[in-house]
Amino acid sequence: MKQSLILIPTKKEAPSDAEVLSHQMMARAGYIYQVAAGVWAYLPLAYRVIRKIENIIRDEMDKAGATEMMMPGILPADLWKESGRYESYGANLFKLKDRRDRDFILGPTHEETFTVLLRDSLKSYKKLPLVVYQLQDKYRDEDRPRFGVLRGKEFEMFDAYSFSADQAGLDAAYDKQAVAFRNIFDRIGLDYKVILADSGTMGGKNSQEFSAPAAIGEDTIVYTDGDYAANLEKATSKFTGQQQHAEPAELKKEATPGAHTVDEAAESLGLPSDQVLKAMFFMAAPKDEEAPKQPVMVLMRGNDEVNETKVQNFLDCQALDLATEEEAEQYLGAHPGSLGPVGVGEEVKILADDYVKVLVNMACGANDDGHHYVNANCDRDFRVDAFGDFRQVKEGELAPDGLPIKFTKGIEIGHIFKLGTHYSKQLGAQVLDENGRLVDMIMGSYGIGVTRLLSAVAEQQADENGLVWPDSIAPFDVHVIPVNAKNADQMKVASAVTTALEEAGLEVLLDDRKERAGVKFADSDLIGLPLRVTVGKKASEGIVEVKIRKTGETIEVKEAELVNTVQILLKNNLQPTAE
Ligand code: ATP
Ligand code: MG
Repeated sequence: MKQSLILIPTKKEAPSDAEVLSHQMMARAGYIYQVAAGVWAYLPLAYRVIRKIENIIRDEMDKAGATEMMMPGILPADLWKESGRYESYGANLFKLKDRRDRDFILGPTHEETFTVLLRDSLKSYKKLPLVVYQLQDKYRDEDRPRFGVLRGKEFEMFDAYSFSADQAGLDAAYDKQAVAFRNIFDRIGLDYKVILADSGTMGGKNSQEFSAPAAIGEDTIVYTDGDYAANLEKATSKFTGQQQHAEPAELKKEATPGAHTVDEAAESLGLPSDQVLKAMFFMAAPKDEEAPKQPVMVLMRGNDEVNETKVQNFLDCQALDLATEEEAEQYLGAHPGSLGPVGVGEEVKILADDYVKVLVNMACGANDDGHHYVNANCDRDFRVDAFGDFRQVKEGELAPDGLPIKFTKGIEIGHIFKLGTHYSKQLGAQVLDENGRLVDMIMGSYGIGVTRLLSAVAEQQADENGLVWPDSIAPFDVHVIPVNAKNADQMKVASAVTTALEEAGLEVLLDDRKERAGVKFADSDLIGLPLRVTVGKKASEGIVEVKIRKTGETIEVKEAELVNTVQILLKNNLQPTAE
């Protein structure tokens, strides 16, 4: 393919709002163009990368027995009203009206749409398990679209949905998808981790995230050198608390003027902060919308953080919000900064982290502004309704596999869920099972951020000169560059090697532009194809140079041996073989 025919608007400078390397380089290399904040055009080179990723996905889905289809992006609001998500999905949902004033949405994900399709298509278990998928643009009115195509308001997603009549069918479909996801990310050539995740508002129980470690990642990955990896919401550590043995001393109220934080209280009382209780006060909204909100106090050691997801899962509530100043005043008679469990009535549920159980003579807020108690002891001075693991893990603690916990940042690239019967119940998707009984179909959902993958790969592999694509998804395999466009010999050899490479089944970009050599080389580094073939002075002797973009290594090759050399380099994942 001649470069003069393709739109590749390379630039010397990145746009001023491009904060991260992947965005800067994709914009400079002429891959992406911003149409509006979070809304992107994928130019020919980027689109070729996307096509390659799609084809890897299609290939692995074929192997996993999943079939492709296409749903509309514009969906009737009624469908989402029926599932309850028209309200609960929040501000990310794009809502619109048609000319007859009927409500529609732009699909941010397609659980509902597939559920009603299967509901209306199947009557019996015989066709199950079944897995369907699509490669489609999704719409989410993200509050902070950023980092180029990493978080867009419109983005391409692979989304698959499995339907089965029993749990075993779901487990099998989920396991197959998990294998396919690993194969896909392995083939793309990306560094990633498979992590335990919380299934959040999707209404299921089991879920795993696939995350690409990168400094700009928005998620904290908790992992060990063994097999353990989880996201921060889900991560647990081994309980290693030791019972304190001091004699319980007399409960005393002390003035702690101006102390609002645990550290300020600890300093004012002359205690270590892990001897001061942190009391977080929440209002839990029950799943039953009619029921009143439940006030909940959660106690931790002062230097621990509450993991709200764990609290919410324990309470099995719809939502958990920090109480307002007014609510704290109403139930506890004081303001955040001076709250604690002593004297709190039964109407407030008190949960405490396991580590609180082993403390003796703790300090805690006295529910009297500017005052704390010292020598508070559990049971004697305050009630705890339930102990549990309610804290966020920390680096260095022991993971469930017994190894020390490490943290790193990651970009979420995929997510698989066991949804269960949440949507089939809401939308009445049932089939007759083997015994002729009506059962809810059991579902799984599986998603990959296709366009986000471009950012993840670029973030991991680009360098200061530009993009560096793994050969499996590079827009072309080889960039052929005649050094001097005015030199007829060079142009002839460049054209001949392009033809030879193309005839061998390789994808070649021939820089036939009348630009200076420096410009062509700089653009070539920016564009980041795996191999560059430079046709220069030695062309007349039948010698060209091959440069490996990833390592910068160069090799002189006889024109006649070029195809073979290029094939070997690509096959060996760009490692020159020892001669
Ligand atoms: P995030 O927490 O990053 O917002 P999510 O949990 O909302 O992601 P899912 O609903 O699981 O994402 O969507 C499946 C995949 O789609 C994600 O794993 C991610 O790779 C991708 N994705 C989600 N939101 C966006 C977005 N705004 N732009 C680009 N890709 C996205
Ligand atoms: Mg999201």
